[in-house]
Parts: sequence; C-alpha cells; structure tokens
Amino acid sequence: MIMSRRQKVLVIDDSQQMHPLIQVRLRGLGVELISAYDGQTGLKIATEEPPDLILLDVNMPGMSGFEVCQVLKESSQTHDIPVIFLTGADESVNKVKGFDLGAVDYVTKPFDPAELCARVRAALNTKALMDLLTTQGQIDGLTGLHNRRYFDERLGQELAAGHRYERPVGLLMIDLDHFKSINDTFGHPKGDQVLRKFADVLTQTCRATDVTCRYGGEEFAVILPASTLELSHQCGVRVLDAIRKCPDFVDIIGRPVTASIGVACAVPSDRMTPAVLVEAADKALYAAKVAGRDRIAAAELAHSQTVV
Ligand SMILES: [Mg+2]
Repeated sequence: MIMSRRQKVLVIDDSQQMHPLIQVRLRGLGVELISAYDGQTGLKIATEEPPDLILLDVNMPGMSGFEVCQVLKESSQTHDIPVIFLTGADESVNKVKGFDLGAVDYVTKPFDPAELCARVRAALNTKALMDLLTTQGQIDGLTGLHNRRYFDERLGQELAAGHRYERPVGLLMIDLDHFKSINDTFGHPKGDQVLRKFADVLTQTCRATDVTCRYGGEEFAVILPASTLELSHQCGVRVLDAIRKCPDFVDIIGRPVTASIGVACAVPSDRMTPAVLVEAADKALYAAKVAGRDRIAAAELAHSQTVV
C-alpha cells in the first residue's frame, strides 16, 4: 500500500492507562495517535480533523461507545471513518449491535499485541484503498459503490467486450420507491442511512462479477457482464426480494422500503453505445413505476440490437 501521509488513529477510551498502552502496541505501524477520554470530545475531534481509524471503548461513563458510533455514522463528515470497538474480557457486549452500527471490528482488552496490530493494520489498509479510489473519482462517497463516472466508463468497456466475444451484457436500473417522502418525513440523515443500507443489500445480492453503482440520487445501476436477459431478470427479482425483506429499513425509518427495476440486455453491435442500453433500461424502469412499483419490467430493444 502506498501511503502518501502518516495515518491518524483516534483512541476514545475513558481509561487513562489504555492510551499509552495502545501507543506502545502500535508503535511499529508508524501511525499518529490522538487521544480522547470521553465520547463528546472524541466526536468533536473526529469532526474537526477526521482520523483514518477510531478505536472506541464500548463502556464509558456518559456517552457509551455505541452512542458515539451511532452519531459518527449519521454524519456525512464522519461516516466513512472505520471504527474498531474495544471491550473488556469480562464485559458482556452485544457485538451484533456494534456491527449493525457500522463497526468494522472488535478487540478485547487486555490486548493480544499481535492481534491489535493486525486488526488496526487491516482497517487502515482498507481505509487507504477507499481513499485512493475516492480520490481517483471512482467511488460514491456516501454508499461506497462505484459512482456515475465509473459506471459510464465501465459500461462502455463491457459493451466493447460483449461485441468482441459475442456475449450478452445485462443492465439493471434500480430506483428506490417514494424516496422523496422518506427524506421529507424523516430528514436527510435517515435518508442517507437508507441509501447506504440499500447499497449494502445490492452488493450482497449481486454476484461478485456484477458492477454495482450509484447512478445518482436514489437511482442505482448494476452492469451484469456475460448475463442473458433471463439471468439479469433473475438478479433483479432477487434484489427486489432482498430489499423488501431487509429488516434494517424498519429499524431506520419504522417501515420497509421497496424498489422498482428496469432490466435491459443485449449482445452489443459495434455501434451500440452505453446510452442505448441505459435508455432501454430506464424506459423499462418507468414502466415498472407506472405499473405500481415494487416490481421489475424488461426492456424491448429495437430489432437492430440483438436481444438475448
Ligand atoms: Mg471504559
């Protein structure tokens, strides 16, 4: 990993002796450590000079680590900062709750020196990679999915490859239903949480080879290389099902959410542009909306395009 600057780790722990201990344990990593002894101060530092990683004690007087994490993940300034929770061996902690709040890992005190170092290093490497991709303008900052710019480039490449190898390229255009009313009713922080969760579900539901993107606003797109219309349609159905059944939306806004999908597929001709496939999928998406939302509709491509 090429590191252009020294990475910063913020330690938020009410126990004074924990800070020098961590300092010693992480000495080999060459990171800059910043200390906060309560949640409020930690949040202030995290907002004013965002660190690359936060080590967060779960049990603190006043604001608990879980509460601090929740605030971090709700703010657009701090939600990208990875959080590793610190817990005592004798404390019974609901680890699942922490992961749901967006924590990347847990470390139990007293630390196994090698383990603490390894977990911190892994989190920092991921953060550096994400930063690099964001800097290069390929990742959507809110959801971590590929952004629109990457989508446009990649779809062009996949169409060219599809033409060369005579294999189909599928495309899903996905729109969250009634998103405006979610923002209006629950506010933008909740709306952002819904978008991030939506992106998670999308990533988990699609194949690793599918290219998941945030197209803009509440619209998402998935490129499915080497997928027939039937396979692309099946993927869309799986996405709709997973969104509908995801319990996390109920936790966030008190009710489930649904989406509508337009699917298009073609074995591209040499003249086929990304715009043709996007327009076809978009029209199908519109048809799905008109037909009552929470459903998928397939595009009819013109005869000059080979439809699979
Ligand atoms: Mg404590």
